[in-house]
Amino acid sequence: MPDPASIFRSLGVTDDPRFVAPSSSAAGSVTSRSPATGDSLGHVKLDDAATYDRLITESHQTFLRWREVPAPIRGQVVRAIGEEFRTHRDTLGELISLEMGKVRAEGIGEVQETIDIADFAVGLSRQLHGITMPSERPEHRMYEQWLPLGLVGVISAFNFPNAVWAWNAMLAAVCGDVTIWKPSLLTPLTSIATNGIAERVAASMGHPGIFRLVLGTDDVIGERLIADKRVPLISATGSCRMGRRVGQVVASRLGRSLLELGGNNAVIVHEDANIDLALRSVLFSAVGTAGQRCTTTRRVILHESIAEQFLQRLVAAYKSIRLGDPLKEGTLVGPLINERAVESYLHAIAMAKEQGGKVLVGGERASLPGALSKGHFVLPTLVRAPSGNQLPIASEETFAPILYAFTYRELEGAIAMNNSVDQGLSSAIFSEAVRNTDRFVSPSGSGSDCGLAYVNLGTSGAEIGGAFGGEKDTGGGRESGSDSWKAYMRRQTCTVNFGGKFDLAQGIRFE
Ligand code: NAD
Repeated sequence: MPDPASIFRSLGVTDDPRFVAPSSSAAGSVTSRSPATGDSLGHVKLDDAATYDRLITESHQTFLRWREVPAPIRGQVVRAIGEEFRTHRDTLGELISLEMGKVRAEGIGEVQETIDIADFAVGLSRQLHGITMPSERPEHRMYEQWLPLGLVGVISAFNFPNAVWAWNAMLAAVCGDVTIWKPSLLTPLTSIATNGIAERVAASMGHPGIFRLVLGTDDVIGERLIADKRVPLISATGSCRMGRRVGQVVASRLGRSLLELGGNNAVIVHEDANIDLALRSVLFSAVGTAGQRCTTTRRVILHESIAEQFLQRLVAAYKSIRLGDPLKEGTLVGPLINERAVESYLHAIAMAKEQGGKVLVGGERASLPGALSKGHFVLPTLVRAPSGNQLPIASEETFAPILYAFTYRELEGAIAMNNSVDQGLSSAIFSEAVRNTDRFVSPSGSGSDCGLAYVNLGTSGAEIGGAFGGEKDTGGGRESGSDSWKAYMRRQTCTVNFGGKFDLAQGIRFE
């Protein structure tokens, strides 16, 4: 197993005193464990309330300086950070794989996403444009400008311990903001490495302190951060439960929140679909990252004419999946993050059976030999809903590789099923007919009700160029590409009288 201390050395991140080697111990710390073996990867000393307070005060001072740096120059700092992530992509990807459990290729892919969003942000640093509009008054001018917002609090989930930070922090940096990151305590080493790289580059260019990392519990640090008026934007990624709490607390102080929460994503496979394409896409979206993506396919809705054939082939594909050490070449599926996740997987399967679902493949813990015997491995599982499609457990997001299969006769019924859950993140349809696919993404809004809609692609694997996020209980936030940057700035409408006459809008006279 690679040793995190030597990974930190090769990444040039050796100065974070919060990291304590696995062989030592430290009071007030959490232990990061490999989900594949259960072994300790090291301990992380947690920050306390006083440290948090100091960090916020310092960050505000940093913001006052950083916002004065012209945006294209801020972009140069982000460009250099992107280059550094390019240099260290594979090593950092392996650390993600080691600590979070996703397979090596996906760990590296996650860092690639960080590099991509850094590139995007660099281009953005020469844009960030406002619009002009005509004034109704002579010799007046009106325009909008976008201004730096301040401190951006980023709360991230365990499953994307590097890229979710980047989606926020790279945009926030070109927008002139300072990022305060509170990561998941299940993946603290990746966050120390990620933030350490960015902060080292920025400091070497004369801008220390624009990326800050605060490691602490939800009670001591999380709750303080969301309630803190000095942090105008909280961007929080995680479960709907967490989002409800964060949304309420931030709203009660009239702050802004950007919520990226749970998903319960469906794929519709119509009778005229390219079945080979649909199979491969559903397989990747359902079992990739061991079902621990917010965009994982959790429901497959099959036209009744192709359902038997499709499920038979999917079962065969499930049986061929190579489960094992995420760092080993050829492994397709790694472990779940911890024992609690295994328990919720087993609970969901028990519920599905009780509700009349039939387990077609999987359905139990996987026992692997040797060092992996203490890992949190489960078999990717396919459950067929009973006739009548009543399977209440399928309305919940279980963060594990369980796919529920439903059947339908009319496309309208399939779209209604797609839209029937509380979450609204990602959705997909497979069909070769534009009449069906465009019905799914109808401009009236009567098709998929999700933030992401795919045609002949699976539900996971978004590109950074689009705005990412979902509706309903997914929280409504948008991150990453398109005009998501506007969330990290404040809009100012400017009206300039260059004539010298006293003129009121709406023709009001005040003589
Ligand atoms: P989680 O909700 O348990 O934790 C997410 C983060 O919220 C962690 O950093 C946690 O410490 C923090 N948190 C929890 N309570 C808090 C509080 N009261 N105040 C401040 N911070 C608090 O989620 P998880 O298990 O780490 O991740 C899995 C969930 O994340 C799934 O539901 C998944 O769908 C979702 N997710 C969504 C997206 C998206 O973009 N929509 C992306 C990744 C993950």
